[in-house]
Amino acid sequence: MKIAILGAGATGLTAALRIAQQTSSKVTVFEKDTFLGGHASTFQINGTPIEKGYHHWFTSDNKIIDLMSELGLEDKIGWHESSVGTVFNSKTYDFMTPLDLLRYKPLSINNRILLGLSSLKISKIKNWHDLENFTAIEWLNKNVSSEIYKAFWEPMLIGKFGEEHYKEVGMPWLWGKMNTRFKSREGFFSKEKLGYPTGSFDIFFNALSKKCEDLGVKIHLNSPITQIKKNESGTLTLNMNDGETLQFDSVIATVPSNVFDKITIGLPHSYKEKLQKTRYMSAVQLILELKNQLSKYYWLNIADRTFPFVGVIEHTNLVHQSVYGNSHVIYLSNYLTTQSPLYKLNENELLQKYLPFLNQINPNFSKDWIIKSHFQKIPGAQPIIESEYSRKMPSHETGIENLVLGNTSQIYPQDRGTNYSVELGEKLAELVMKKPINN
Ligand SMILES: Cc1cc2nc3c(=O)[nH]c(=O)nc-3n(C[C@H](O)[C@H](O)[C@H](O)COP(=O)(O)OP(=O)(O)OC[C@H]3O[C@@H](n4cnc5c(N)ncnc54)[C@H](O)[C@@H]3O)c2cc1C
Repeated sequence: MKIAILGAGATGLTAALRIAQQTSSKVTVFEKDTFLGGHASTFQINGTPIEKGYHHWFTSDNKIIDLMSELGLEDKIGWHESSVGTVFNSKTYDFMTPLDLLRYKPLSINNRILLGLSSLKISKIKNWHDLENFTAIEWLNKNVSSEIYKAFWEPMLIGKFGEEHYKEVGMPWLWGKMNTRFKSREGFFSKEKLGYPTGSFDIFFNALSKKCEDLGVKIHLNSPITQIKKNESGTLTLNMNDGETLQFDSVIATVPSNVFDKITIGLPHSYKEKLQKTRYMSAVQLILELKNQLSKYYWLNIADRTFPFVGVIEHTNLVHQSVYGNSHVIYLSNYLTTQSPLYKLNENELLQKYLPFLNQINPNFSKDWIIKSHFQKIPGAQPIIESEYSRKMPSHETGIENLVLGNTSQIYPQDRGTNYSVELGEKLAELVMKKPINN
């Protein structure tokens, strides 16, 4: 049996590995870019690879941790204590333990306790299906005071989904997000630990692709697929951008839903409709190499909506700056729609807009701290997960026999992450391996 996989990210490469391990099928991976890793791919700072968008693992990310072990890389995962802060009304507060919550001055003492209790309540909900009919806002408005909502949850939702979309986000998404973070702590009062592979996420993708190739998988980079079409015989034809066409018995697509809709001929109308309703936010990351540390936090939530960015992730507060030639590396992170005025700014315009706000985080910051800036725009970074999403989410079965789809818009109710992409890759492999061989 000949199987094609579109995309050499975590989902596509995991699917390739599992099929190659369990069958004698001929597996070929087509990747449009010249590199592996998709959303978790890297660029270099002083010769060291680092992700285009901040990346780490939670201790509860069992699937990917197990796969790292299988690849012989378990001891390459460094587990580091994370440090979290929140900026509200231009002031920064520690936000790591329940005690920090009790010191969080933007809320009255009563509401600090209630915020802790409401977070705990969300994490204790066992059956997230009960939340399906609620948007996050509807549920929060019923369950927390408006002061808590305004000072904490609303800025967080606007930060991730923008003014345009935050009201549509379903409560199960928030449940999934909170649950992952709670599971990543050893106890209620303990600090969160986060994992980062020594040598970047590249070591995972390099080892995974090597293992695939050792098992006979062919991986073609720089090979965008421009069309998928079913043939009368039941096989599928893939068109390459140089005009070449190739035949396969089964195809696994791990491309975003909008791309899949564009390149696939003959999808049922109802399936196309679901693909077309899937919307994504783009990630816009301005990455600065600084001479000095900006703050003591790895993760700084910006709950102050006068700031033009939503998070500052100081990577070198997780991994030592000596790894990056002593540059302190910060991601100034935003999730934006392509229509957003901020999305349209170039690197320098964005930098000029952001600079005054860095002084609010650290009054000693000055422009001459900047050694170098880097700019990454990541399309399709965050699917917008609405209420009643189970009903709206496209299934893996596409309505075209032997053609399945798996991408981040089908990870639910957990928030997208490489751990869930590994799980998804395994699920897609199972689906394809169960299928009868044509003719
Ligand atoms: C800013 C940001 C921060 C993140 N932080 C974390 C984190 O801290 N921890 C974590 O675990 N995860 C994180 N994630 C999520 C994680 O990166 C994704 O969940 C994961 O990489 C998705 O893998 P994938 O293989 O499903 O999709 P992708 O990585 O998007 O892979 C799909 C591949 O398909 C290719 N492709 C597209 N069209 C075609 C075509 N026509 N032909 C051939 N190939 C095609 C693409 O080039 C891409 O390589 C983050 C993501 C972003 C954007």
